[in-house]
Amino acid sequence: MLQERTALVTGSTSGIGLGIAEALARKGANVILNGLGPAGEIEELRKRISRECGVAARYHGADIGRPDAIEAMTRSVVSEFGAIDILINNAGIQHVAPVEEFPAEKWDAIIAINLSASFHTIRHALPAMKRRGWGRIINIASAHAVVASPFKSAYVAAKHGIAGLTKTVALEAAESGVTVNAICPGYVLTPLVERQIPDTARTRGITIEQVVKDVLLAAQPTKQFVTVAQVASLAAYLAGDEAASITGAILSVDGGWTAH
Ligand code: NAD
Repeated sequence: MLQERTALVTGSTSGIGLGIAEALARKGANVILNGLGPAGEIEELRKRISRECGVAARYHGADIGRPDAIEAMTRSVVSEFGAIDILINNAGIQHVAPVEEFPAEKWDAIIAINLSASFHTIRHALPAMKRRGWGRIINIASAHAVVASPFKSAYVAAKHGIAGLTKTVALEAAESGVTVNAICPGYVLTPLVERQIPDTARTRGITIEQVVKDVLLAAQPTKQFVTVAQVASLAAYLAGDEAASITGAILSVDGGWTAH
């Protein structure tokens, strides 16, 4: 169980991040939600998690693309709870276009949110973890941390970068009770994936049904979407004491995709 632990989950107002925040709260961790969305809905979410799980639940609206906002968020969590014991770097965005047409501002945003943000959260969270001799850093990467797909140059570059960051920080923190791992899901049907289906259809000149069958699930041998609950339960396991010897691992939850 994770009583007495405090977890910051970036991008937890939706999709995988929300599933992980709920799974950690169910195990007794206090959770700090972060992400975009209507203020009223986020407040309902925060209150529901706190009420149903009997934990402290907070929300911080930091724009994960801005280093100064990340610093302010991590400082406020450390000053209230003493440390971020469990850091889940999950916030992510996507854009699909051929590299020669890829908008430079989309490239910069994807690298900032999907890669550089994790450097900033880690550098601010790690000192207090080391002081306490316990910490868990879990980076939500992707099968695209291991293999590429066309038209996703920024996303694939950022996710490969996350795999390298994970292994490097794992080595640096190895003797301090802090583990650092990456979870690499295949396709999970969340708003992020739903949004890219029309773009992919347009870019490839095919129908929505063909995108799902021939593009998204073509590489996923199970021909099933991974579920949020499956990713969340691995994250909750990695956050526990039983997972103390798992560090520097790049863990696939991808229905066999990267076995190809
Ligand atoms: P999602 O769109 O449902 O959720 C993304 C979250 O990030 C939301 O809470 C959103 O508000 C937040 N976010 C986006 N930009 C932000 C910003 N600038 N500042 C703060 N928060 C911001 O997406 P998801 O599918 O749940 O993806 C979560 C993570 O999982 C991402 O890193 C994604 O790359 C990864 N992933 C997803 C899949 C998939 O198939 N869905 C597969 C592999 C990896």
